[in-house]
Amino acid sequence: MTSGRLIRVFDTTLRDGEQTPGVSLTPQEKLEIAQSLDRLGVDVIEAGFPITSKGEQEAIRAIARSGLRAEVCGLARAEKADIDIAIGCGINGIHVFLSSSDIHLQHQMHITRERMIEQSTEAVRYAKSFGMKVEFSAMDATRTDIGFFKQVVKAVSDAGADRFDIPDTVGIATPQLIADYVKAARSVSDIMISMHCHNDYGLAVANSLAGVLAGADQVHVTINGIGERSGNTSLEEFVMACNNLYALPTNTNYQLLYETSRLVNRLTGVPIQPNKAIIGDNAFGHESGIHTDGVLNNPSTFEPFDPSMVGRTRWLQAGKHAGRHGISAQLRGMGLKPKEESLRLIVGRVKEMGDRGSSVTDSDLYQIAVQIMGGGSAEKNELVELEGLEVVTGIKRLPTATVKLLVRGHLHEATEVGSGAVDAAVNAIQKIFSNIETVRLKNYRLEALTGDSGAVADVTVEVEDDAGHTASGRGMKRDIVVASVEAIVAGTNALLAKKQDTEGIKVLQTEKPTGPIEGL
Ligand code: MN
Repeated sequence: MTSGRLIRVFDTTLRDGEQTPGVSLTPQEKLEIAQSLDRLGVDVIEAGFPITSKGEQEAIRAIARSGLRAEVCGLARAEKADIDIAIGCGINGIHVFLSSSDIHLQHQMHITRERMIEQSTEAVRYAKSFGMKVEFSAMDATRTDIGFFKQVVKAVSDAGADRFDIPDTVGIATPQLIADYVKAARSVSDIMISMHCHNDYGLAVANSLAGVLAGADQVHVTINGIGERSGNTSLEEFVMACNNLYALPTNTNYQLLYETSRLVNRLTGVPIQPNKAIIGDNAFGHESGIHTDGVLNNPSTFEPFDPSMVGRTRWLQAGKHAGRHGISAQLRGMGLKPKEESLRLIVGRVKEMGDRGSSVTDSDLYQIAVQIMGGGSAEKNELVELEGLEVVTGIKRLPTATVKLLVRGHLHEATEVGSGAVDAAVNAIQKIFSNIETVRLKNYRLEALTGDSGAVADVTVEVEDDAGHTASGRGMKRDIVVASVEAIVAGTNALLAKKQDTEGIKVLQTEKPTGPIEGL
């Protein structure tokens, strides 16, 4: 283990991340992400590739002008025209690149190795003449003849570059190979060494760490690991592994990791797999009885680190694998304290439901518990009740929904339009809640239980408040709009039950739901 080293974080969410197929950000969105990256504490923000478009230049200019603490850098090919346009954006760092592998030199660039070195050093000298930080990338470095690679490092360092980046452009390197290239670079120059890894074999984080352990000073990362093909090194995974497992800190404000991840997720529309490390929905969720029991006694039994370190909270899930301790803790969180015998019956019902292949949402658990404890329906205890729903939809007309909700005994009504009937209904619900309570739709999942048009729609949702508390709800109806609205109302009730003891009513903004709900 090395001590006293601070590993630099070069974030390329706005450049390589934006090169994710199908992703395109507006200048305003890019600025919002840059500001959030700056709060997160990254050392360099690669704001974009200026030659790409006028909009790209506008975004980079706005980011460069916004007074960020981080270095704002732009990408440029090793060509005067690219460099001039990049400089014109007012950046204080420039990232110049040219391929060094024979495959690229012969089949893409059509130049010799000698010409590659000439062009690289000319570009570095030219960029350096504007008095800014210059990072040079030898594209496809990890497929470059290692003898020639060393010549490139030496030549570019001598030309005055501040940092030399080693890109594993096609993601084929192993940790051992990365270490070889870092050591080769170090053997010919004292220049700051950087890594740029791709995740084609799922090794981007491991390769980046191998680079750092071999002596690299800086790593290129993206939020949520987005980027070309299978993406880049994920910032969240890299900085946490670096800090927690190797005692190599970065300037990252770890508590902002989750909210930054959510922002990028929302603005790019790139989904995050639930089992993704650090930021995935399930990263701090527990269902199995053994695990929940352990975590309730002492979280370190089954958690790698405290979720609050990255701005998250742990949650427990009822289901087939659940145990009494976990279920009891979940119910306490909803203000319910069943006696031993009731708890046994509740756990039994939860497991039966799980055995039928069904997930057990918070609202399911709440309903089961209230039925067993009180011998009736939970509805009379509920804070939110669905009083009415009307939907108008069709071709060549805007889907419109009117929703009536009884919230703590007061009737609220709203009419909204949407991209589909479900979306319109959700918008109407959110409009009602925007004035009284923070409730946002976080996830929406729809399953048709049989294959015909009379199928029962099984909708599960997850709703969230501003403090990051979540609760799940389910609605099952032959009408998909009614099922959706019921699921949201059920989830909201479970969320409010969880909050009831601790918090009053807050008035905060709502966020429009994104994702699969569109077009329904
Ligand atoms: Mn790349």
